[in-house]
Amino acid sequence: MTELREGDRIRIRKKTDSGVVVYEGIVMPTASRNIVMKLDSGYNIGIHPEDVEIEVVDRLGGVKEGKKEVEREIRTGKKGEEHLPSLSILSTGGTIASKVDYRTGAVSPQFSTEDILEAIPELGTIANIKGKVIYSILSENMRAEYWKKLAAEIYNEIKNGADGIIVTHGTDTMGYTAAALSFMVRTPVPVVLVGSQRSSDRPSSDATMNAICAAKVASSDIAEVVVVMHGSTSDDFCSIHRGTNVRKMHTSARDAFQSINEVPIGKVYYDASDLDKMRFEFCSSYKKRGEHELELRDKLEEKCGLIKFYPGADPAILDFLVGQGYKGIVLEGTGLGHVSAEWVPSVVRAVKQGIPVVMTSQCLYGTVCDRVYDTGRDLLHAGIIEGEDMLPETALVKLMWVLGQTTDMEEVRRLMHEKIAGEIKGRRVREGSLIP
Ligand code: GLU
Repeated sequence: MTELREGDRIRIRKKTDSGVVVYEGIVMPTASRNIVMKLDSGYNIGIHPEDVEIEVVDRLGGVKEGKKEVEREIRTGKKGEEHLPSLSILSTGGTIASKVDYRTGAVSPQFSTEDILEAIPELGTIANIKGKVIYSILSENMRAEYWKKLAAEIYNEIKNGADGIIVTHGTDTMGYTAAALSFMVRTPVPVVLVGSQRSSDRPSSDATMNAICAAKVASSDIAEVVVVMHGSTSDDFCSIHRGTNVRKMHTSARDAFQSINEVPIGKVYYDASDLDKMRFEFCSSYKKRGEHELELRDKLEEKCGLIKFYPGADPAILDFLVGQGYKGIVLEGTGLGHVSAEWVPSVVRAVKQGIPVVMTSQCLYGTVCDRVYDTGRDLLHAGIIEGEDMLPETALVKLMWVLGQTTDMEEVRRLMHEKIAGEIKGRRVREGSLIP
């Protein structure tokens, strides 16, 4: 049998009862005796090497090392086309910057910004593009300290004249980063986070359409931190979500991102045949270009925790975080904002120690209101802060940001109830006289 190497493109002919079936794809690493190949559809199959004809169609000439580039600036696009806006693409990794790694068989972030631009040359017709790789990570490895660097890079790019920013990001934690940047950067230009659910080596990849829609939004007059991702299962439009109210709601669907507790800012319709024909449809109001002065407010208290309550959950979980020196805690309670009665003494202790405890709801939709049931009223007496209609993760990121600005408990309480970056939408729940 021909000696196969990982990364070879091969064609296999296999005789079956109904005739010869041909498979073509890339050889993947395997510990088994079978040949494992990634088909062009993106799926992997295993084929027993006996009784098949194998032809090597293309050979990589060795296993490629992943790029180790950390930070580098390049410029591409139509230089000198002054009428085009200047956009900066800041790459952090994720699927949109990934390809199959033939050493491990896994999808890993390897594309530099230059690679993204090579893969999507249309971007150069929309704007003059400057690219910079900030991180090459899968977004589950994102951390609050990385948000600070990212916020500072965005600030610098805008200060140096960028008309819009695109942040390429893994989809898993893109909502957290979008919320963090919404609080940390007051922006006079669009700051657009974009990712893809399916890597660019798959025919159903959403990378190209999402990136093009992101470039259109980054060139528009929406001066907010937003997430731009597929809005339907087809390739017809991307939704523009406000950075504080967006969530990944599906593990793999291309239209996984949804605005929670509000409609998206709008849609950008995709037209692959003529990018100039792409149009916007707006569903709600938004901050316009130049409405804000550029401001960087990047102080964060990173030692904040998020606890999801479940029936029978032990309040020792909260005591543990307090004992570990956590400075603020968000609870993801049930319904209107509840934890069981046995948690109340632990909440009282935390608040007495000066640790703000914020209640959000695992319902995600609706506003927290602890005035209705006994357990809620007890929590209000204990000094809990109602997280209004914020997503739990937005409340967490906001608490980090608020504690970065002040440690005065009353000021923390006031700021958590104040709408700072569109994170509070609905009916304001008053604390009234129940607060001690
Ligand atoms: N888990 C990885 C990440 O969030 C890949 C998922 C993706 O980018 O869609 O970076």
